[in-house]
Amino acid sequence: MEKIPDFIDFLLENDIEVSPDLDICYSPSRGYHVLLSLDVKNPLARNTPLARVPKSAVLSASSSVLCNLLSDDKQRSLAGLVLAYLIERNLGDRSPWSRYLDMLPSREESCLRFWDQDEQEWVRETDAADILRAAEEDLAEMYDNTATPFFESQRAVVRATIGENVPWDNFTSKKTFADAVSVVAARCFEIDAFIGLGLCPVADLFNHSDHEDVHFETRFEVCEWCGNNDTCEHDAQALREAAGENDNESEGDDSAPPEIEDGNNDDFNDINVDDDDDGDDDKDTCDIVVHRRIAFSRQGYIQRTREIFNSYGPLSSGQLLVKYGFAIRRNAHDYLSLEREMRALYREEGIPWHELIDGSGHFNSDAGTKHLDGFRWQDEWEDVSEGEESREHDHGDNHHKASSEEGGESELKIDIRGRISFHLWDRLVLYCVRTGGSPSPSAYHEILRVFNSAPSSLANRLSGTSRCIIETLLVLLSRRWDRYQDGGILSAEYDYVISEEVASRELTDRESRKRNALIVLANEKEMLELAKARCEKALGIV
Ligand SMILES: [Zn+2]
Repeated sequence: MEKIPDFIDFLLENDIEVSPDLDICYSPSRGYHVLLSLDVKNPLARNTPLARVPKSAVLSASSSVLCNLLSDDKQRSLAGLVLAYLIERNLGDRSPWSRYLDMLPSREESCLRFWDQDEQEWVRETDAADILRAAEEDLAEMYDNTATPFFESQRAVVRATIGENVPWDNFTSKKTFADAVSVVAARCFEIDAFIGLGLCPVADLFNHSDHEDVHFETRFEVCEWCGNNDTCEHDAQALREAAGENDNESEGDDSAPPEIEDGNNDDFNDINVDDDDDGDDDKDTCDIVVHRRIAFSRQGYIQRTREIFNSYGPLSSGQLLVKYGFAIRRNAHDYLSLEREMRALYREEGIPWHELIDGSGHFNSDAGTKHLDGFRWQDEWEDVSEGEESREHDHGDNHHKASSEEGGESELKIDIRGRISFHLWDRLVLYCVRTGGSPSPSAYHEILRVFNSAPSSLANRLSGTSRCIIETLLVLLSRRWDRYQDGGILSAEYDYVISEEVASRELTDRESRKRNALIVLANEKEMLELAKARCEKALGIV
């Protein structure tokens, strides 16, 4: 709390603009968060900028003292940013970001990774456990392939930079690295093609909601060698390389890291020149912008205050729990994997799983469609398996680095409305083709309608293969349901416990972890319930 005044000084010195309507606050249970106070007569229009951070104030591997010690691709990666963060943090007051870094915890204590063993048991059968396993593998990979080689090869330089008072083994241990990853991964943003991932002061103070008020905006398309957002000397060179005239690999030599620290105030002065124009793309800033009109009810007080939220991306409950350590009941972006159950069914029937998997290990949907020539259900299913992709069409907005690079995500899933993803659909169809009759085009369209919003009268018209698909899905859902071994507790019953837990007092850390575990369980149970109800309705069971 007492760190906020120092942070405000840091903002002023770095020309970071924050709307006077915003208040940066701290509370023990909520951590740092942002409140908005508004006169109810003056709602905020969409695209109103609320904060503006010069890119030069962003902490990244290319702006930190370690800029020349890592290759370009490593600099832009999470591992590169974590190394930059570790070094800047150990520089203490000598780092230009010290008053920002002082506000950050030493690790994100509530992340699933740091729960006690018995606490992790609460979510053992949820997707969160699988996502955590994949995240641990990613972490080990980053540590072994980037951090360790870096510390070994750059020991002298790093030692000289941070000084002798930091114990080397302590600084370079896997535990230190894991703690740093938790802090960095929970608040980094994709800045642009040159910087890659970075820590953006102020932008990372907003909490997450799946119905966000603001979003993070930068111009991503800049020169990847120098960060210039207009024309630069590399344009001609890029053209030559594209034409194949220049084959000496010169990327490393050409990178001209921007100077962030003192003295380089040219960029800052530009900001005020054209800041009245939202559509302006030339700004060298990261902006927090109103995502949808914010208006307060006119009842009661003239001046109203509430917390405002950003979105960290379209993340499922499991992803939120692993990366940030919280969950949201009825999270709009949730999904539930049925992959384990589907694989077991394939095994039992002796159907090879990998026949449909291409060499890189990703599901190859083309291979799937070959068996079913001509049936184009993909288009109709795109809205079901949307998620990550849809965000990219968000005209260049950059969200928190979302899930796409993280493992542990299944393509075989149901969503918050109990609908099934294209890949799960594909697997179900193939399963039925292999075990039963062959499908007809009309059968697919029937089932599409069933899953999109089926009147129960459709049940009578289901053909044999369609029935097979729905019955198979019911088997998967029922096996997934049994996995929890909780005596079949319903989502509504979990809700009851959750609401009991939320007494008006502050929760202890353990209580708050338990509450988040219960929310993840309730979310998964509810998705299973909805999907099961759809199936039963279609089959005429209910
Ligand atoms: Zn350039």
